[in-house]
Amino acid sequence: MPTHLPQPTTHTNQTHWTPGIPFKAGPGLPAGHGATAAVPAPALAPSPPEVIFKPNLLSKLINMEPTAGTFTLDAAALQQARAIQNRDGRLDRFAIELGLNSAEEALRAVSATLGLQVVDPTSITLDLNCLEGFPAKIIHRHTIFPLCVEGESVLVATANPFDLQAIDAAGSALGKPVTPVVMFPDELAKLIKTHLGLGAETVEGLIALQTDQNGEVEMLEEVTDDGSEAAEAAKQASVVRLVNEILTEAVDARASDVHIETHEGGIKLRYRIDGVLQKQPTPPEIDRFRNAIVSRLKILAKLNIAEKRVPQDGRIKLRVSGREVDVRVSVIPMLFGESIVMRILDKNKLEFSLRGIGMPEDIYREFRQLISLPHGIVLVTGPTGSGKTTTLYSALAEIKSEDTKIITTEDPIEYHLDGINQIQVNHKVGLTFAASLRSILRHDPDVILVGEIRDLETAENATQASLTGHMVFSTLHTNDAAGAFMRLGDMGVEPFLVSSTLEGVLAQRLVRVLCKECREPYVPVHDEIPEDFPWEQYQAGGQPIYRAAGCRACRNVGYRGRVGIYELLRVNDEIRRLANERATTLEIQKAATRLGMKTLRQSGWERVLGGSTTIEEVIRVTKTDHG
Ligand SMILES: [Zn+2]
Repeated sequence: MPTHLPQPTTHTNQTHWTPGIPFKAGPGLPAGHGATAAVPAPALAPSPPEVIFKPNLLSKLINMEPTAGTFTLDAAALQQARAIQNRDGRLDRFAIELGLNSAEEALRAVSATLGLQVVDPTSITLDLNCLEGFPAKIIHRHTIFPLCVEGESVLVATANPFDLQAIDAAGSALGKPVTPVVMFPDELAKLIKTHLGLGAETVEGLIALQTDQNGEVEMLEEVTDDGSEAAEAAKQASVVRLVNEILTEAVDARASDVHIETHEGGIKLRYRIDGVLQKQPTPPEIDRFRNAIVSRLKILAKLNIAEKRVPQDGRIKLRVSGREVDVRVSVIPMLFGESIVMRILDKNKLEFSLRGIGMPEDIYREFRQLISLPHGIVLVTGPTGSGKTTTLYSALAEIKSEDTKIITTEDPIEYHLDGINQIQVNHKVGLTFAASLRSILRHDPDVILVGEIRDLETAENATQASLTGHMVFSTLHTNDAAGAFMRLGDMGVEPFLVSSTLEGVLAQRLVRVLCKECREPYVPVHDEIPEDFPWEQYQAGGQPIYRAAGCRACRNVGYRGRVGIYELLRVNDEIRRLANERATTLEIQKAATRLGMKTLRQSGWERVLGGSTTIEEVIRVTKTDHG
């Protein structure tokens, strides 16, 4: 029986520890609690808890000890509390039976009886050195947490004062004496979650699974495995849980991608949220499971788990919190093992409407006119992840009708669109964008969407389709709208073909939207902002602009969600003439601006002046096309 738990002797400001009022065991201190009883325990929190009793129970079960400033239970009551804690994992029922206001009050009484201090996490300065080297497994299994060093021992918080064996186990693992203190279950869970990240939620998540159908992660397709050793490891409950949790957390955090990267000796988990990668805290123990995690994901994605030398692609269909989620999985063998990137397509979040994606009214009206033309080419440009596909899908949704036949050719098909004929490009069998475009024409479409124009053949087929009376939508990798002419010219498309078919180019970016909960109004320093910022307009407007801060609602990032900024170039006679003369991008840009085109930057500054994003964010997403 461990007897080396010392009484705290030195006192720092780390806790609101009150030094040694001698421990007085309650009358009902049970046998088997020698570890606690033998130790002079710390005194209780200085202010007595406010406890309101039902008078009839008060006399029977609770002795008031004014000297210690709190209440203790008699043997029978303590026994009852123990039984309830063991059965329910909390003391709610005990509190009700005693007539106390809450399980917290019951926990205070039990702790007082056992001579344990109840601590408030906000009053403690955590010493994270204690956490390092503390076995995460013990933290998770027993729901305990090392707080700080007090004298020669480590203070360890538990929510179950009856389960001090766990704390003894922690002491053995640490090779140091430990002093147990009690924390309310919710506060302890929050502490563990904050400092151990994802894996720490497993227990909580499991409880939620049992009680809340909506919290369930459900595989929407039958999963089979090959019975191998790797498959067995992947089936282990803890790995299944961990993988479910990685996916659930990603969906809850609105992540678009999950990156699981293997490094020498470990694993790194990152989510892409609002276009920016963010590292997810994970318990160090996760490294040991990396192969099992990869195998589990490969099984879910119906990939060959024995094959570890070549890249593989698959899909997982899930239901998370009642929402249907499609996950596209890519596995690539890297130097230290297979890395996985998952693209999450949350079908419930989809809204394909130009107004719904936040297109400003002036851009919307012009773009609406463009996409309603009977024939021609309309391009959307921008880097990967700038929302081009969403804009084009929204355009299709806008013009979709019973008398319009729409066919798309995509690589890959990201969303299934109702009422639209979609073709998946398949390079293995020669079904490229260019080849599918030729075939599409025989199906007599009105509108064609080509995923991307990236070679001469596709570009020429698109112009042919346009010249024969079809409307063609596509995307192009250029920084700005005017650059589309140069890009097509570089591919080898004749200028007259471009000028006679291209009707408009929409360049776009996504800027992150400031979190409304924590954005901070400020006055920027004139010399520190870009020259093209509309300073006078800002000063005349009298509206504040904001910078990002960070709070709980936005996971400390300062932003939540994204919105588009746009540059719409309408091709008129002057632009056509310039294109025919092989004018430079800058010349075309100047002409378009003269004719009233708003640039991406100007569109971004409007968002800044409107209070929805920051100057930094506009600079970040437009830096390639300015200056
Ligand atoms: Zn915030």
